[in-house]
Amino acid sequence: MAADVLHLTGPVLVGPHEEVEQAWVVGGRLTFERPTAAGHDVVRIDGHVLPGLVDAHCHVGLDAHGAVDDDTTRAQAETDRAAGTLLVRDAGSPADTRWIDDAPDLPRIIRAGRHIARTRRYIRNFAHEIEPEQLVTQVRAEAQAGDGWVKLVGDWIDRDTGDLAPCWPADVLQAAMAAAHELGARVTAHCFSEDSLPDLIDAGIDCIEHATGLTDETIEAAAERGVAIVPTLVNIATFPTIADSAEAKFPVYARHMRDLHARRYDTVRAAFEEGVMVFCGTDAGGSLPHGLAAQEVAELHRAGLPRLDALAAATWTAREWLGRPALTEGASADLVVYPADPREDLGVLADPGAVVLRGRRW
Ligand SMILES: [Zn+2]
Repeated sequence: MAADVLHLTGPVLVGPHEEVEQAWVVGGRLTFERPTAAGHDVVRIDGHVLPGLVDAHCHVGLDAHGAVDDDTTRAQAETDRAAGTLLVRDAGSPADTRWIDDAPDLPRIIRAGRHIARTRRYIRNFAHEIEPEQLVTQVRAEAQAGDGWVKLVGDWIDRDTGDLAPCWPADVLQAAMAAAHELGARVTAHCFSEDSLPDLIDAGIDCIEHATGLTDETIEAAAERGVAIVPTLVNIATFPTIADSAEAKFPVYARHMRDLHARRYDTVRAAFEEGVMVFCGTDAGGSLPHGLAAQEVAELHRAGLPRLDALAAATWTAREWLGRPALTEGASADLVVYPADPREDLGVLADPGAVVLRGRRW
């Protein structure tokens, strides 16, 4: 049975540089005022309290072959919850996962509709596969189907040239971005290569996924225009394997992927140091399992983000960027409690002591 009141004995890490001693959960909501009414069943939870972790690039309802059934979808979402990931930006899914919004035990999802890719230029069964003249119409449809985000596949291997190549002409991107923004949606794009980035940034893209192809020029442009990146380093780790299996048929592509992989940490660090916003995303649900947010935070730190910034990329600033509350008075109690201070040791994130979602402990 759920307790009437949870007493979080703290410290409660309400911001990267701000903590309060203790807090309570009453009626599913966080409060910093001690409840006065007597007769409550109060349960104590000791430890360092963080906002529920954010996986800003995740796919719920998807595996390597396409959409999965509702039971598998639920198991994915439960794996995220157990790992403390309580807010997911779904970066494209062919499954209808709207039912999750009515499941109080599952993480909150911000959807980007279904991926929009060029015909036969993406993983089979994932995307709406279309040609450039259809892009604006499809972007409008996904902007209306999602929760404020649209996901494009910005580049992919071109089997004719045997290397990564941009998928969309610049003028079409300009029109598509304007259409999404008109509907109040932000746009992000899957980009591995260098060449797709200038046109996307110039067209007003809001975020770049993976972003392995950033150069000094595009880093400067992204910083200037407030374009965020979600590097998904736990996924970039698979590039050498992708390169090995492509080697025989596409040696140029294979070399390119190895090169992008080799400089992945330098790329992320350079972007961060230039002022580009960097967020935690795992790309779980394509080929990777769910529940990897702690590993991605560790990777961001390995790339060169200071510990507190790597942590913020999965908590306070990620929530602010996505327009969702963190640990504020009256907010839904979506939080994670750790036995030690994650600001001192990011390894602590891998093993939450308690997960509280909508005020209920899991
Ligand atoms: Zn993805």
